[in-house]
Amino acid sequence: AVTSGNIENPEEEEMELSLRPQTLNQYLGQERVKKEMSIYIKAAKQRDEALDHVLLYGPPGLGKTTLAFVIANELGVHLKSTSGPAIEKTGDLVALLSDLDPGDVLFIDEIHRLAKPVEEVLYSAMEDYYIDIVIGEGQTTHAVHVPLPPFTLIGATTLAGQLSAPLRDRFGIVEHMQYYTVDELEKIVLRSSDVFHTSIAPEAAHELARRSRGTPRVANRLLKRVRDFAEVKGEQTISWATTEHALKQLQVDDEGLDQTDRKLLRTMIEGYNGGPVGIRTLAANIGEDRETIESLYEPYLLQHGFILLTPRGRMVTDKAYLRLGLPIPGDK
Ligand code: ADP
Repeated sequence: AVTSGNIENPEEEEMELSLRPQTLNQYLGQERVKKEMSIYIKAAKQRDEALDHVLLYGPPGLGKTTLAFVIANELGVHLKSTSGPAIEKTGDLVALLSDLDPGDVLFIDEIHRLAKPVEEVLYSAMEDYYIDIVIGEGQTTHAVHVPLPPFTLIGATTLAGQLSAPLRDRFGIVEHMQYYTVDELEKIVLRSSDVFHTSIAPEAAHELARRSRGTPRVANRLLKRVRDFAEVKGEQTISWATTEHALKQLQVDDEGLDQTDRKLLRTMIEGYNGGPVGIRTLAANIGEDRETIESLYEPYLLQHGFILLTPRGRMVTDKAYLRLGLPIPGDK
């Protein structure tokens, strides 16, 4: 099963599958990434070679898994999907790799969480398409050289900084996924409502897009909730007023900050005078794990100027005080 951050239940996973675009054309936004990938895909197909290994990095929900499937689809090859924590032993990796047809894609989500011995086996597999494994015990121990079909590894990570240099260096193609613009998210919302056979007013789609943290997964999730509100009201077309009302109920604010975003800022302000605060302290205080804060919450708050990273930890900006309606210190 694909484990990509923040999928809470099977129903949601099913929804995500139904909403997944299949081709680069259907894949909205990420224009730079798409343009580059389409060239590399074309070239690999012309040479009839496996595409170079691809590393996709960026916050959860931006479409890394989706893009991996799109790439395999465009290449006309199979994709096998797994995740870093799911590959426990080198034997698991060998089994996955030797099962591939030439040119196939192996997708490893959360690749920064690979066990070290597994990662080391991956080096020669990526570089020269072989694996040396040691089998047997004691007297009967011997090394076996396993040649592999040429394949493409697509790795996805929310924390590129946690990838070891030798692993990172073995990816010929590295793509940084960006937050989506409101326009792009609006198109995604409209496409998703088509898939759901619901209709949504353009201004409602715009409002949803504006408040989705630049993230398609959030946009789709909010769309689904807003649709519930509209249905209960007996609305044929999801209206702006219902969208606005639903988002208020869901405690998503004007700039798309959710409860946890605000809790994080409030904790920094009320508990630590605005910072600097270390990540571990913060994680313990708001009851989220460190990785979730670093990969999901912080990048958005940073990009929108609510916090700053300093060598001594993260600090809130004046914008954060304003957002929470608190007096800015020194302004008193
Ligand atoms: P990640 O792997 O980065 O966590 P996913 O690929 O699982 O993100 O994307 C989450 C959901 O968002 C997908 O199910 C898909 O419906 C939607 N999505 C992501 N990127 C796009 C896109 N570019 N166009 C349309 N929908 C997208």
